[in-house]
Amino acid sequence: MTTPKAVQPLPEQRTHAERVALLDFDFAQLSQWLAQFQTPQFRARQIWEWIYRRYAEDFAAMSDLPRTLREQLAATATLTPLAPVAQIVSSDRDTVKVLFQLADGQTIEAVLMLYDQRRTLCISSQAGCAMGCAFCATAQGGLARNLTSGEIVAQVLYFARHLADPTLPLPCSVERPTQVTNLVLMGMGEPLHNYANVWAALHRLTAPDAFGLGARHITLSTVGLVPQIERMADEKLQVGLAVSLHAPNDLLRTQLVPVNKGYPVTTLLEAVRRYVAKTRRRVTFEYALMAGINDSPELAQEMAARLHDILCHVNLIPLNPVADSPFQPSSDAATAHFAQILQNAGIPTTIRLRRGIEINAGCGQLRRAAAHQPLSLEIEARH
Ligand code: SF4
Repeated sequence: MTTPKAVQPLPEQRTHAERVALLDFDFAQLSQWLAQFQTPQFRARQIWEWIYRRYAEDFAAMSDLPRTLREQLAATATLTPLAPVAQIVSSDRDTVKVLFQLADGQTIEAVLMLYDQRRTLCISSQAGCAMGCAFCATAQGGLARNLTSGEIVAQVLYFARHLADPTLPLPCSVERPTQVTNLVLMGMGEPLHNYANVWAALHRLTAPDAFGLGARHITLSTVGLVPQIERMADEKLQVGLAVSLHAPNDLLRTQLVPVNKGYPVTTLLEAVRRYVAKTRRRVTFEYALMAGINDSPELAQEMAARLHDILCHVNLIPLNPVADSPFQPSSDAATAHFAQILQNAGIPTTIRLRRGIEINAGCGQLRRAAAHQPLSLEIEARH
């Protein structure tokens, strides 16, 4: 007669909000948390690899874990801090934007852009934003809250999973490479206003034993929080810095980017010079061109004079048109002329391809549309 195995009681079932969010953990924290289940140490490594190498979103998929442990994990922890609620695809099917709902009902956006061999993902760092930029849809609702590191990581894992698995319904035709190749923190929020969680996420996204994306393939975009730029200069990860300038003088910039009151252009550019001197890395200045507001040849000349001694590159961004906004994109001619003036002054300048223009891919636009009106037929409901 066989002795029945001891049945371990399952932990009490918890609601999603009460469960531990495993994506918030680094490896040491995961190992420590797992100790409560009296499971061998190597189980932490297995779970880590299921999350970051195989993009599992369900404990049931972790087939090399004992069934009891999988059930214990499912009852006490979660791998899915966000759920897709809507997605929208550009007509050329190379840009897809997903609106995610977080556990507390907040919504954020992320955009995947396919271009040649690049699979560039633009993610959010906050729900809403406190920076109040005049031309930005996200700014209008203010800041709801910072995202956790797990919520930042989860946006990347969602697209990594969908790129890697041809059976998952990503609505663009993806050929190789089938992994995220570039990451930009230019979605909703100011990443340097959520410094600790953003950098915790970046460490996991770049760690060779976790997601393993090269830091040089990541760009963090800020409106210019000077103390945090100084702090970033001391980080070991070689993440690229992009500064959203949008105007070369205080009078105009303060109206467009109110944070300029606290960190005027001269102060900001001094911080950037120190950053370049310390890191020896080229900085990108982002400049969203708005018709009749910041696109004159005189402003281009002023900008060239201010940037001439900085190791930098200027990225001119044709603004995404928003129907009820006074800020409209510059004409192609004005954009080309602005670029030419900078290039003539020896400043490397590119005009960013306007990707996803017809899918409200600009920062915060889909979220805003969803809040103000029912999702249109263009937006595919997701469950
Ligand atoms: S442009 Fe960026 S920093 Fe400015 S309000 Fe929008 S999300 Fe925030």
